[in-house]
Amino acid sequence: MPSEVIRVICPNLRCRSILAVPAMTRGKVVRCRKCNARVKIPLVATSAAPTPAVPAASNEQPGEEEKV
Ligand SMILES: [Zn+2]
Repeated sequence: MPSEVIRVICPNLRCRSILAVPAMTRGKVVRCRKCNARVKIPLVATSAAPTPAVPAASNEQPGEEEKV
């Protein structure tokens, strides 16, 4: 797919806009259109879902070990 698009979230905490960049920009640095911050595009393609860096916590609950 030549028209593959990578979605990355702007690292600027005050911006956090989702940037859609072509796959050819992998490993390069692009600029956020909103805040002009430099965004590093990861080499490895992320999953299609534009999820934040926080992993899904609903799957695995931290073990409630009762320490007696
Ligand atoms: Zn931004």
